Amino acid sequence: MRYPQTFIDDLKRQADIVRVIQDYVQLKKKGANWMACCPFHKEKTPSFSVSPVKEIFYCFGCHKGGSVFNFVMEMERVSFPEAIRLVAEKSGVPLPVMVDDSRFQARRLESEEVIELNKWALEWWEQQLELSAEGRIARDYLKGREITDETRKTFRLGYAPDSWDALSSHLRQKGASQEQIDRSGLVAKKEESRSYDRFRGRLIFPVLDIQGKPIAFGGRTLKDDDAKYINSPETAAYIKGRNLFGLHLTRDEIRRNGFAILVEGFLDLIVPYQFGIRNVAASLGTALTPDQVKLLSRFARKVLVNYDGDQAGVQAAKKAIEILLTEDLEVKILVLPEGADPDEFLRKSGASEYHRRRGEAQPHIQFVIDQAVRDRKLSNPADKEAAIDEVLPYIRAVRSRLQKREYFDIAMDSLRIGDVTLRRELWQSIRSGIRSSPRGSESTFKRAQVKPTVAEERLLGIVFADEELGAGVLRMLQPEDYEDLATAPVFRALLKLESEHRDITFESLREETNADPEISALLPMLMMSESLHASNEYYSPEECLFTFRLMKLQSRIDRLRDENLIAEREGDNEKLLRISAEQTELTKRKSGLLTEAEAMQIGH
Ligand SMILES: [Zn+2]
Repeated sequence: MRYPQTFIDDLKRQADIVRVIQDYVQLKKKGANWMACCPFHKEKTPSFSVSPVKEIFYCFGCHKGGSVFNFVMEMERVSFPEAIRLVAEKSGVPLPVMVDDSRFQARRLESEEVIELNKWALEWWEQQLELSAEGRIARDYLKGREITDETRKTFRLGYAPDSWDALSSHLRQKGASQEQIDRSGLVAKKEESRSYDRFRGRLIFPVLDIQGKPIAFGGRTLKDDDAKYINSPETAAYIKGRNLFGLHLTRDEIRRNGFAILVEGFLDLIVPYQFGIRNVAASLGTALTPDQVKLLSRFARKVLVNYDGDQAGVQAAKKAIEILLTEDLEVKILVLPEGADPDEFLRKSGASEYHRRRGEAQPHIQFVIDQAVRDRKLSNPADKEAAIDEVLPYIRAVRSRLQKREYFDIAMDSLRIGDVTLRRELWQSIRSGIRSSPRGSESTFKRAQVKPTVAEERLLGIVFADEELGAGVLRMLQPEDYEDLATAPVFRALLKLESEHRDITFESLREETNADPEISALLPMLMMSESLHASNEYYSPEECLFTFRLMKLQSRIDRLRDENLIAEREGDNEKLLRISAEQTELTKRKSGLLTEAEAMQIGH
């Protein structure tokens, strides 16, 4: 399943890199480029730059760079097709049908239909909550929970009237067919007979996807119904366990903070949000799923689990830890006093007290150990063994060797296991379970291993900065100038593009260097280095090339001098002779070059 190549090419031309990146970082115009503090590394002065002309970004600090797609892939931690989709959406370019997958297309259409009906339902419910006489019961409930009008609007809360068909008739009036309404999950069916409104007399919490589209709903009873909460069933638009409540509002704050607070219920997110704690996501009722963790890990690598303090909450937290660890996230646990959930605690004790408790959150291993030794006596061998068995899986699930060892030592000390042989045996049993797939290798960026010399960096900088001058330089370039350089593929690609009169862009260069990851990682740096060497002096192609050749020779001469010193120290006479011959040759070439330059009146 993939997008047609023609579409990708079109999108590359149409996508505005500044507009897309602006969604993530605050860009300021500086000359031809836009600058910001880098979202990929910590810094106080901006070294992250975006060139709308070259359609690339590059950070002079951490050297990450590339196209708008590379940026989105790294920022959202998504695959290339997913990045295509996001860039298209942000650029307002309609997505085409993915190549050869008609079932996917049918499901997508149905999903769009469900979302359309959800939108109608939500707008109507919002009105009912705000204006209807019956909605008063919901307004009073919110008042009791100290939820402000602003918060209510932000989360788009609604009220579903206590009626069997008020919503259905509204949807029919808007033009929905009965089949569409049945497929939407907004109604339920009693056996084979007619369907009726699923949510009746309930406060509505919409579940919005990351783009803010309503995909499902939760409804809280406002009477003494047995079912405190009911939820949408799965539909074409909603698969359980794939979404996190509130993430479309909190994702940026999660990224900024570098960690997410994971809570259970709707209000456990909404109330902290109102108190200014906005790096929160809610897992919603069911146990946390690997899909939810993958989604969360796009925005932060650290998670603070803050579930209810009751026994059910503790069990849910332990399950969550296991899943978070398999995704290689760092996990801490916050248990609020007296089993309070975040909603209650914040309204009672306020934000600063919450932050204080948060600062004292336990690393996951300590929480697991505490739970394991509770109600057990470590002096009793059977109890001790049971505690060990309970704790070890949580250490085994840790991906990093170093952290694994650290947690293991903490656990051994806490469980008072002093016997060296036993400790070694337990460590072996844990290590044998290691799965070797470090997550770091998934990064969409390859760090450049190739390091260009100053000479080639400068010459390429000129070629990229000045079209006319660059063309002149390329025309005069000889294979021996570049063939022995790390950047030889770039030179070859440039010459090819120039001879075919094609535009020199990041994309065309990537293509001509066969998308070699080493070279692709290098290109943004080379393409942006002009701003480092920008000057108002006028050079001719001859002068540029002369400086380049001279610098290249000189750096070889310098390197030979170092090699010479080493050979002397090692008493390697054979090598010394070879070096000496080469030195003579290079010096001769250097003086030849200088004479030539003098005749042409350049280089001074
Ligand atoms: Zn950076």
